[in-house]
Parts: sequence; C-alpha cells; structure tokens
Amino acid sequence: MEILTAGNLINPRVLVIGRFHGDEPQGEFLINEYLKACEKTNLLFVPCLNPSPTRTNANGVDLNRNFPTQNWKLSEKNEFYGGEKPASEEETRFIISLVKKYKPKLILTLHAPFKVVNYDGEAAQIAKQISSIIGYPAESSIGYPTPGSFGTWAGIENNIPTITLELDDEIDVKLLREPVFKIFELFEKY
Ligand SMILES: [Zn+2]
Repeated sequence: MEILTAGNLINPRVLVIGRFHGDEPQGEFLINEYLKACEKTNLLFVPCLNPSPTRTNANGVDLNRNFPTQNWKLSEKNEFYGGEKPASEEETRFIISLVKKYKPKLILTLHAPFKVVNYDGEAAQIAKQISSIIGYPAESSIGYPTPGSFGTWAGIENNIPTITLELDDEIDVKLLREPVFKIFELFEKY
C-alpha cells in the first residue's frame, strides 16, 4: 500500500482508492495513467490497496467487509469473509488512519464489474454528475447486504460522502480512461 500523488499536495479534499479487491485491477491502471498524464493534482490517491490476485487480501479477508461498522458480523470463510474481527487487517487500518489524518470531503473507490455509481451518505448530487459522465445509473444501494463495507463505514457512519464506482470489466480498460479522467477532473475542483 502506498499513497501516490503528483505535484504538491495541499489540503486534499478527495480520496481515491483503486484496486480494493485484488481481482479488480482497473482502478489501479486508471489512477496510474492519470498520474502519468497530469502535471499536478489535488487528489489523494491509493492506486492499489490490495495487490493479491484474488478478491480477498493475502489473509483471505474481503477488505470491503472488514470495516468496523455497526452491522459487521463474523461470517463464513468464503470470498466475502469479513475477518476474525472488525479492522483485523492492516489494509483496513491503513485506510482508517488515512481518512482520520486527511479528513476528505469526498471518497471514491474503484471496483468492477457492475456498471453502477453506488453511493453512501450525502453523495446523491455528485453521484448524478458521475453518472452523466460515465453512463451508469446512480444508486444508493447495491441491492444486497454488505456488512462491514467501506461505504457503510465512511459514508453512513462517518458522514463522508462516498462513491463506489463499479466499472465495466468487459471492455478494454483503455476505453475507460476518458470518462474516468473526466471524473477525476471534476473532483479536482470539488
Ligand atoms: Zn470490488
């Protein structure tokens, strides 16, 4: 895990997390492409939170079920396993410390493959703007329970508007460069 940005980072207001699930590499690619292309940015990027080749981290934990939310619960050891306790994983604690340190006003996490702009907290308006750029619907619920999810922790329980952008994994990732760069540029002015 590393924080990457370009130029001088002064009071970053938006945190962008790529590759939350190891088998969803699109976000990491797009962030790295953006950092190569832009001269400076006000965004705080974590290109790759989870370098493992699977959904879960190296310990077999789904990081998006490991956050200390009120609805966290011990679950079966499958690909959605939430860990032996909330925030048991180093990656989870790293993100929590980053959020506490920088106090972002908006957070975006990049996932695949559902083609939806999911949001938690007071993010309906920015979700609509993202939706109009990328053409996926904006929805406040993903349609299934996600105990211990990052969106619940950050968006609902810590009141930080949080977007979970589920990218298309059926098209060439290079075709996502244009809409995702536009979304990042929108955030530069947030
Ligand atoms: Zn994911």
